Amino acid sequence: SQSQSHGHIVMLPFMAHGHLIPFLALARRIRHQTPFVVTLAATPLNLQYLRSIISPYDADSRIHLHELPFRSSEHGLPPDTENTENLPINQIVALCHSSVSLAAPVERLISDITTEEGRPPLCVISDVVFGWSTDVARRLGTKSIAFTTCGAYGTMAYVSLWLHLPHRSTDAEEFSVPGFPERCRFHRSDLHRIIREADTTDQWSKFFQVQLKLSLASDGWLCNSVEEIEPLGLDLLRKYLKLPVWAVGPLVPSDLLQKSSPISPDSTLRSIQKRTGKALGVSLEKCLDFLNSHGPNSVLYISFGSQNTIGPGQMMQLAIGLESSGKPFIWVVRPPLGFDIKGEFRPEWLPPGFEDRMTRSKQGLLVWNWAPQLEILSHGSTGAFLSHCGWNSIVESLSQGVPIVGWPMGAEQAYNVKMMVEEMGVCVELTRGLESQIGAEAVKRVIELVMEEEGKGGEMKRRAYAAMRQMREAVKEGSDDDRGSSVKAMDDFVRTILGEPAKDTSSSSS
Ligand code: UDP
Repeated sequence: SQSQSHGHIVMLPFMAHGHLIPFLALARRIRHQTPFVVTLAATPLNLQYLRSIISPYDADSRIHLHELPFRSSEHGLPPDTENTENLPINQIVALCHSSVSLAAPVERLISDITTEEGRPPLCVISDVVFGWSTDVARRLGTKSIAFTTCGAYGTMAYVSLWLHLPHRSTDAEEFSVPGFPERCRFHRSDLHRIIREADTTDQWSKFFQVQLKLSLASDGWLCNSVEEIEPLGLDLLRKYLKLPVWAVGPLVPSDLLQKSSPISPDSTLRSIQKRTGKALGVSLEKCLDFLNSHGPNSVLYISFGSQNTIGPGQMMQLAIGLESSGKPFIWVVRPPLGFDIKGEFRPEWLPPGFEDRMTRSKQGLLVWNWAPQLEILSHGSTGAFLSHCGWNSIVESLSQGVPIVGWPMGAEQAYNVKMMVEEMGVCVELTRGLESQIGAEAVKRVIELVMEEEGKGGEMKRRAYAAMRQMREAVKEGSDDDRGSSVKAMDDFVRTILGEPAKDTSSSSS
């Protein structure tokens, strides 16, 4: 069959770690399931980051990295600014607009591949916010596929919200969002400030409205989700886009989808070494030691993603609540809001003697700045995740059967929480945002609720386990009927980019 012949796919991730990570995971999945060559193209510093997370296992002849020239000063950005990490919000929007300048080097890349191979690449897979690439692809005779690194429900919400501005005139506390059924009413507090203040003339609107509309004209969307865990979101998205939407998730390393929990410490170490090809960091060893010393499902893992922190008052209350709950925890701490997030952590930000007491009693482990999240979530001792609910964190957590305590901060995180609370029952919301007056009592209550074996906590755990099993089924390979939904979706995507008729109807829009 034609799908045996080789072809080339160009991938264009948006400039943020939370996007580069799932793009690399998608590249690995494509390499695993198809015979195609993938070229991941990114600006110099983002490429450097990709190199740092790529393992020798990736560096074979089928995943290529390509550098797209970029000068931040030409876009009014500080020197060496190519990623959303540590950027103030007004510069993030400048970075978004600057991405349009990548069109010319991307065009050169596609032309070079076409000359070299005698035919254009099979498709360009670009971030949904890189709508400009749809035009480039079409002009150069290749297909254009958008990849949303968010979930289907969250994607549906932000696409619809951006394309139906403004929202600030909404008087009602609750309102419906076009494309959602009446029962999924949204609340004013679900909208973060940027989208509440957007009025189509501001820089955010100008970026999102233009780029998302262009992505609506692509040949189909790939989504890091799973048919069985987001049936509503995928259905809504298909009806709204009128395009094929292929749910090919969960995009997490395949060794983490095979083993049944709990994973033995030894095999965890071996698989990490194999996956990363790197020496184990101190924090990984500390985390594994800590987890090994606690019982199954007993540890709460706390992290706010790759670039967030919380307010100073919130940090204090969280610490007091954690200590008074008496439950074991691993907490990734960064300097609180208002301080240099990459700077030194000062003990005064926590209650006096907090870290000492936690270390001595073995109740808690503080990890500075960055933790080996996948390894923590896949460890059998981890029982719940207090998360800002970025989509990668959610996918990683549910793929390991770990329920979530939500503390959404921005982007589409509040919609993710809404979906997980209302549709999946795997999450309880603690608070939201950086300004909320969260008290230690509420922290203690929610920890007790989620860690209990009976009642609501037990129910969340059972549902998270069910989601884990569905996610693992979805990537099961086998013959025809045995193939999982995500594997079939990838088959269908391949048929589309090869110009063959679709077989699997689940991803089609009709
Ligand atoms: N991550 C990690 N260690 C940390 C914090 C984050 O490994 O201490 C990884 C996490 O596993 C996930 C990504 O960074 O893959 C965060 O992506 P997410 O979508 O959850 O949030 P974002 O950082 O984009 O807001």
